Amino acid sequence: MAKIRCLECGSDIPRDAWSCPHCGEPAQAAAGGQTAGAISTRGMLCVLLLFILFPVLLFLLHIFVPEL
Ligand SMILES: [Zn+2]
Repeated sequence: MAKIRCLECGSDIPRDAWSCPHCGEPAQAAAGGQTAGAISTRGMLCVLLLFILFPVLLFLLHIFVPEL
């Protein structure tokens, strides 16, 4: 398993670890933000989906519940 060095305490931690087991520093900072980048991309997709789905849901609501 590839290891990275914690920027905070300098110990070797697993590359796929979320945080340093020694000092608790988030591992993404030491890993160069690769994992954080993937998460933020997924988050952007979720936000985009919400922005697309929300008007569609409102539209469907107006169709099926005319008294609103
Ligand atoms: Zn550490």
